[in-house]
Amino acid sequence: MDNPSEQIARNVKWFRHKNGWSLDRASAETGVSKAMLGQIERGESSPTIATLWKIVKGFNISLSSLLEKIPKEHDQPVTLFRDANELRQKIADDTMLVSSLFPYDPMVAFEYFEITLPPGYDRLSIPHKRGVIEYVTVFEGEMEVLSEDVWHRLKKGQSLRFQADRPHGYRNLSDHPAVALNVINHPGRK
Ligand code: MN
Repeated sequence: MDNPSEQIARNVKWFRHKNGWSLDRASAETGVSKAMLGQIERGESSPTIATLWKIVKGFNISLSSLLEKIPKEHDQPVTLFRDANELRQKIADDTMLVSSLFPYDPMVAFEYFEITLPPGYDRLSIPHKRGVIEYVTVFEGEMEVLSEDVWHRLKKGQSLRFQADRPHGYRNLSDHPAVALNVINHPGRK
């Protein structure tokens, strides 16, 4: 299997070219320095998860599209079997395991992840594009989600929907991994 960071490098470049953007323009759109973008595209630097989110936001793409082997955003068959056991991976410097079960599809305007938060995991997320809504349902263990300045504690079987175009976060203060479904809805995204 390909190294995920090599895929990210290829995909960042692919999306930048698809937009017809120079490195200068991509830097202006994402807030990531031109030097850093160039290093990421050449595979010389592993982006942090915070940098990846800036790229996703500036490019107006989904996180899952950066992880795909081929950044294809259409022509997915509706009936699609996916196995999280084969897809779990760490992204950049993040210790969360992410399984991109159903990558972003404009037909439904969402991406569908299984996430596993190790004990002690604690991360604030930059606001996503305007209008983005997230859903979290806990399958195993328990975790907390920050929304509107409140940490919402979620146990197995509990869910939260929240506005993700503002600061939010995820943490696991327990001694056991927490596994959850995370759906990111991008209403109105091209
Ligand atoms: Mn988020």
